[in-house]
Amino acid sequence: MTTEQSSTRTYDLLLKGGRVIDPANNLDDPLDVAISGRHIALVAKDISPALARTVADVSGHVVTPGLVDIHAHFYGIIGSVLPDAHCIPQGTTTAVDAGGSGHLTFDDFNESVINPSIMNIFALLNIVGEGMVGLPEQDIEDMSVDLTSAKIAQRPDRIVGVKVAHYMGPGWEPLDRGVKAADDTGVFVMVDQSPIHTRPMGEMMLEHLRPGDMVTHCYALSKPMTDVNDKVKPYFFEARERGVKFDVGHGSGSFSFRVAKAAIEQGFVPDTVSTDMHEPSLMYNQATMPETMTKLLALGMDLPDVVKRSTWDPAVAIGHPELGNLGQTALADIAVLEIAEGDFGLTDNGTGYRVFPTDKRIVVQMTVKDGKVVWDKNGKSRDHWSSTPPTNPALV
Ligand SMILES: [Zn+2]
Repeated sequence: MTTEQSSTRTYDLLLKGGRVIDPANNLDDPLDVAISGRHIALVAKDISPALARTVADVSGHVVTPGLVDIHAHFYGIIGSVLPDAHCIPQGTTTAVDAGGSGHLTFDDFNESVINPSIMNIFALLNIVGEGMVGLPEQDIEDMSVDLTSAKIAQRPDRIVGVKVAHYMGPGWEPLDRGVKAADDTGVFVMVDQSPIHTRPMGEMMLEHLRPGDMVTHCYALSKPMTDVNDKVKPYFFEARERGVKFDVGHGSGSFSFRVAKAAIEQGFVPDTVSTDMHEPSLMYNQATMPETMTKLLALGMDLPDVVKRSTWDPAVAIGHPELGNLGQTALADIAVLEIAEGDFGLTDNGTGYRVFPTDKRIVVQMTVKDGKVVWDKNGKSRDHWSSTPPTNPALV
């Protein structure tokens, strides 16, 4: 790398020599990416290093928009994680907290987590007033359509949808109230609901969700997409046909290689790739964005498609198309990915913790947020240590 101070330098940072995959702009080419201030200035071939104050050689690596994790947990549940510390080293620059807060707790979430974070953090507001705080999500009386809608209307800058999850009662009231609140405010619903006899999955997808609403944990064995013969159930295709979206939401119990492999082989790829990041999913399965993307590569999806469903598609799904792309003047949120080769084992859950051998793993080398390098695993943007100045003789 080189760093130069000169008034003739046009760009603050130049990522040079990488393979740029930017699905929103139909790019998959060897290109350089130049950044000025907080924004992308130019994506082009052979940008002169002389024009940049800092040049990072990213040859051999893949340069993508900063990853967008549409299902993570930073508030409310036991095991919530720290957004910057846990996401930025994994290339994630935008994440959505999936239902940790409700209309009663969103302001606290905003002040204690969203505002102090470097990352872009959005919220799916739980239909339950307290969100996932305490022992929640069972009391129908605490699921107010009006109060939830009012909070969404008050904070459309941060609240991008409604979350309905974990209800154990017999009926559809939580989901129907969540859909009503979302309908009143023009946002989508993400649902995490295991099927029971009185609430079958097919009825949920075909009769209660709207086009644009999203089913998370799509490859969970507890919400099985496949039958005993590993065939995708027809109503999943019907739901997709009518516009229902399907999200990975890896988690600590919601990703089965058996289900995912069969589904992907039968053409049922996920609409969005996400982690359901919290302490157990991080510890048991390294359920980060790059590791979850690696699993989809191992199951046969190609890299540009996986990148699209990890950047542009979730950005569009949350109504923020200014994110998840490397278009000129877009915010400079960028991930630099190494496709490492070796003997690796990927682990799943919910089925007794199996391993899936593979020879490639995505490793995040750099993360750029708002034009600043905020993660640099191998110091590609740094000067050599030998340029360290001598110790200050005034210090005793
Ligand atoms: Zn979750």
